[in-house]
Amino acid sequence: MIRFTISIIVALGLVVAASIWFSDRPGAVSIEWQGWLIEMSVGRFVLATAIVVAAAIVVIGFFRLIGRTPGRIRDSLRTSRRERGYRALTQGMVAVAAGDPDEANRHARRADVLLEEPPLTMLLSAQAAQLNGDEDAAARYFNNMLNRPETAFLGVRGLLIQAQKIGDSAGALNYAERAYQLQPKTPWVLNTMFNLQIQDGRWRAALATLEEAVKRRAVPADVARNRRATVLMGCSAEAEANGDMVEALRFAKRANALAPDFLPAVLRTADLTIRAGKIRRAARMIHSAWADNPHPDLARLYGEMESRSADDDLKRVKLFERLLSFNPDHMESHIALAQAALAAELWGEARNHLEKAAVEAPSARVCRMMANLEERSGGDTDAVHGWLLRASTAPPDAAWICSDCGAAWESWSPTCDECTALGTLNWEPPARARAAGLPSPDTKDPAERAAGADDGDAPLLEDEIVEPPPEPPGGQKEDAGISPDPAPTIDGTATHIEPNGSTATDAGTAADTPKRD
Ligand SMILES: [Zn+2]
Repeated sequence: MIRFTISIIVALGLVVAASIWFSDRPGAVSIEWQGWLIEMSVGRFVLATAIVVAAAIVVIGFFRLIGRTPGRIRDSLRTSRRERGYRALTQGMVAVAAGDPDEANRHARRADVLLEEPPLTMLLSAQAAQLNGDEDAAARYFNNMLNRPETAFLGVRGLLIQAQKIGDSAGALNYAERAYQLQPKTPWVLNTMFNLQIQDGRWRAALATLEEAVKRRAVPADVARNRRATVLMGCSAEAEANGDMVEALRFAKRANALAPDFLPAVLRTADLTIRAGKIRRAARMIHSAWADNPHPDLARLYGEMESRSADDDLKRVKLFERLLSFNPDHMESHIALAQAALAAELWGEARNHLEKAAVEAPSARVCRMMANLEERSGGDTDAVHGWLLRASTAPPDAAWICSDCGAAWESWSPTCDECTALGTLNWEPPARARAAGLPSPDTKDPAERAAGADDGDAPLLEDEIVEPPPEPPGGQKEDAGISPDPAPTIDGTATHIEPNGSTATDAGTAADTPKRD
């Protein structure tokens, strides 16, 4: 408006100036054309010309305005339509977030009509369909999204989540790999693909994904270090399943080198070394591991290894005496040697070492070995029953316990078969011991525990005893000690834990519950 006023003032000024200029300099203009003669003063001629030019400008401007109007009306309508479309899209997203399927559906349809831009509305339509429980319709939208580069990732993501929901792990892995091709840097994609590869037992692929995730900083370095050793163990098992024992040993050694204190890697490397026929190397390994971390499975491997060189039971006793020398005060050393002595029917030596192992709150395994010794060496029935009773209330033996779900396993595996968590199995006593209020090896000092054991001060009332728990099968060398000794474990009955202790029959049943492997 100001510009217009200024233009008018300037134009008027120019006309006035021109009139004054021409009136000061008088003259005439004469035009002769086709028998016509027009004569006028110069001032009038200039004024007439100016009026004609101004009129022409006004007329031309008017027609241009008329010509533009339909376009402007069209533009204005389109803008309003888009605005309404975006409003519907926003309201639809709010409805999805609020979990209102009908409202979400209505806004999705409206946004679809108004915006005419499928990439924008397809995700909302798919989410609205999912809210309505119409997974097929949602899958159709997601599949349509795959056809456009700008929405392909969203489509793959939707299909991947759908596949995970219905437990289709192969389909989910397939979509995760497509998502990885589209967005290789996304941490969510790398972590999802890693988890699915593990669930599918594709450990080598999972190892490659883990390295990629570390490179892309999708996994913190300290988390990656712990995961790598576990995944390498999976790679070793995968190679073994494919019959490639050399590769299996190579992966196990890598895991062992990466985490020297990681017992499963020591066990697996020793096991594969023995199977490769390198007995001396395996023996060195077991001796060294026994000094730091004596574990029943190490003793079992040692027994398997030495059975190749020791042809009689007496020689095996000598070999386990050697193993004991690497950690002479540890309970597991005495248990392992007692086991060999029981097999060789050296009752005195077996009793000597079992008593040493039983000094501090004997575990269920030690009590059962004692019962076995009393029975086979001709001890009285009361002694056998006494030890079996103590076995039923003794602190349970350690097992591989999942720190996520509490499931107990006899052997270690990279993932928990119950909750599929990776690297959560630790060698420790089952939680039942703590939940049932039984003495835990760490809660009392050794003297107190020994005194408690001597007094028979177990949280068990004599009159609650119905009958002694069933005896373990006698005479079987395997059952007497080292390997699968039934100990109370957490299994499907985990919810039945009674915090205030349990009856003898309960405990007996629990003690006989076989661990899963
Ligand atoms: Zn678990």
